Amino acid sequence: MFESVRTRFTDTFGDARGVEVTMAPGRVNLIGEYTDFNDGFVFPMTVDRGAYVAMCPRTDQRVSIVSVRYEERIEYALDQMPKVVPGHWSCYVLGIIEELRKLNLVTGGFDVVIDGDLHLGAGLSSSAALEMATALALQGAFGFEMSRIDIATLCQRVEHQYANVLCGIMDQFASGLGRSGHALLLDCRSLTHVDIPLQLGDYRIVIMSSEVKRALASSAYNQRRQECEAGVALLKQYEASVTALRDVTPDLFEAHATKLSSTIQQRCQHVITENQRTLDASAALLASDFHRFGELMTASHVSLRDNFEVSCDELDYLVELALGTEGVLGARMTGAGFGGCTISLAHKDSIDTLAHQLSHYQARFSLTPGMFVLKTNLEAGVISP
Ligand code: ADP
Ligand code: MG
Repeated sequence: MFESVRTRFTDTFGDARGVEVTMAPGRVNLIGEYTDFNDGFVFPMTVDRGAYVAMCPRTDQRVSIVSVRYEERIEYALDQMPKVVPGHWSCYVLGIIEELRKLNLVTGGFDVVIDGDLHLGAGLSSSAALEMATALALQGAFGFEMSRIDIATLCQRVEHQYANVLCGIMDQFASGLGRSGHALLLDCRSLTHVDIPLQLGDYRIVIMSSEVKRALASSAYNQRRQECEAGVALLKQYEASVTALRDVTPDLFEAHATKLSSTIQQRCQHVITENQRTLDASAALLASDFHRFGELMTASHVSLRDNFEVSCDELDYLVELALGTEGVLGARMTGAGFGGCTISLAHKDSIDTLAHQLSHYQARFSLTPGMFVLKTNLEAGVISP
């Protein structure tokens, strides 16, 4: 990717002196689903693919952006941002540029080429990777001070305001702060985080893509947010210190659960137990207790399927196929659900068998699933030649 994005830059803009290539990776969430906007815990890791941005400052105020993936070019004067179309690839890039310009941190024109090797829209957070890579490239080009946490928060704001996606902080945080060889346990309330070494021994993280478009995801996502808020509003009456589901202990929940409607009860049950599973899973990984880690992953899936109701037949079947394979310790859907990917913790000797299982999926749903085994995971930054 590095070579191809750089070559494309030279072909498009000429002389490549002063051009820098910045990469930010996508992420996969090991466990802790739908906990982020409840002020809870998440446990993502970066993957081995990402968004790549080649950038070089210009001497004038022109901004010229080329997307290799979409074969499109956008040009404008820095202080005259074109109309943003939410969801179009440029909304993420324009949003980052505009927010940094308004802060007076980006003050001149520049040329950019954007590419990437992540699956787009598959739940690996290519949008957060694109935002983060753009922001870090601009930081390199204009040399301003801003912490990675503040950059992640700015990227999240762009996703809200320019893409109209009300995401939590996990994706941008994981892309910007996730370290190679580690997973990242993040407290979404305080933003304190711990890098947990990914020493998996003979086990591997396997990602399978259902190839199902997440058509329902955004409306269901907003609905789940509201349902969680409804749970908080009710439980707060019994314990004033509750401001998010994060604050609801299992005991408090047990004591008052029956006062909630059955739907709200199920949603709260998921979030409260998932927070605990996330903490337990990070401790299990640290202790190299892979069996426990796998059990928690599977329990997370069951809760997302039955209580939070964000899975779908295709994801359930991929999880079933994985769990039916000897040597697989756990499997779950990952991301917002209704499509996207699953992850499994699989012994390295079981991976070929697992790959063969996918023909059953293809036969049942007439979809060709993708599968890849994470061998390394990347961290965001400027890439040296
Ligand atoms: P996800 O973040 O799960 O991959 P989203 O729908 O949030 O899915 O974001 C995907 C969108 O992000 C793509 O449709 C595209 O507009 C944009 N995008 C991500 N990466 C790139 C890239 N390398 N080049 C151009 N656009 C990209
Ligand atoms: Mg996204």
